[in-house]
Amino acid sequence: MLLAIQKAIEVRLKSILMKKCLIILVVLAPQVLLSQTRKITFPDVPGYHTLVCDLHQHTVFSDGSVWPDIRVREAILDGVDAISLTEHIEYQPHKADIPHPDRNRSFEVAKEYAKDKDLIIIHGAEITRSMPPGHANAIFIKDANKLIIDDPIAAYREANAQGAFVFWNHPHWPRQKPDGIAALTEMHKTLISEGLLHGIEVVNENTYSDEALTLAQENNLTIMGTSDIHGLVDWLFDIPGGGHRPVTLVFANERTEDAIKEALKARRTVAWFKNNLIGNESELGPLLKSCLEIGEAHYLDETSVLVAEIKNNSDARFVLRNSSKYTFHLNTDIIEVPPQSSIELRIKTKEKLASVELNFEVLNAITSPGNHPEIILEFEINQD
Ligand code: ZN
Repeated sequence: MLLAIQKAIEVRLKSILMKKCLIILVVLAPQVLLSQTRKITFPDVPGYHTLVCDLHQHTVFSDGSVWPDIRVREAILDGVDAISLTEHIEYQPHKADIPHPDRNRSFEVAKEYAKDKDLIIIHGAEITRSMPPGHANAIFIKDANKLIIDDPIAAYREANAQGAFVFWNHPHWPRQKPDGIAALTEMHKTLISEGLLHGIEVVNENTYSDEALTLAQENNLTIMGTSDIHGLVDWLFDIPGGGHRPVTLVFANERTEDAIKEALKARRTVAWFKNNLIGNESELGPLLKSCLEIGEAHYLDETSVLVAEIKNNSDARFVLRNSSKYTFHLNTDIIEVPPQSSIELRIKTKEKLASVELNFEVLNAITSPGNHPEIILEFEINQD
């Protein structure tokens, strides 16, 4: 009898333990899944590291809703290499509750919190004016307090005197540009010609501007994409549902603040936005080559149908349009290569060849308004 009771207790204990384990698994599983999938990952390109940067963000130190440590934690979860907390210098709606006469505090709090973490914090601020010139971020600054200057051009001069990289924020923002069309004013032309403005947001939060891309290309401005996050990135960009925050991919000599600044000034960037890669051919070309790799290729027994593997080493879901002379057996002219995986393509080459060249238009990449870059994949065929 005693043994039976003991057995019963053991069984009950086991089932409680199992339940507990199950509960722990259920609670932890989404976290584990998230930490595996939400990190933004793109391969390096020849000669450069590909760094994920989100250089326009807000906290309670201007009109954001969170303390700076949350920005640091979000960035680490997303696999971001560098962030800048660019508080509005002139717009401080929380200052009655959170007085902070020193405009460097947001940076200092984030820097302190991140000191034992693998994240680069770049000191920045948002020069917030009516149009023109609108809003601009000055990053790599030394003292945000010194940017409190009435004359906007003088504020840009001060930022530049501190060694800043300055970029124009959301030039297509309907609140400042009711038609949503980014366009230079005389003041912008002056800022560019004097070397005081170096980049432009082509992507801001959940918006994109073809016209800003054209302005970047016509005026040698760096192409930028930023989250401009005020709330939580998980909510705004539906990260639990598979979304991602917009970022700037920066091609830097090394993973340091100085190298990021050098790369930004040299315009080596691509914006990553809603599964699209936006940049100049000179940066997009090498990135696409690093993302899409060819695998093994062989002919199906007794046929001239080639089986070839395409690998995707990136987070982009590639959408490719076939522009080569061959047709496919399993696909139409549009193929998709999911992130971090590979697909098998069956190509009807009509005769057995030693190598095959495939050309694709990359529909989720943009080199100028309406233009998608082409990629060539060359397969050497296994003759065994
Ligand atoms: Zn902003």
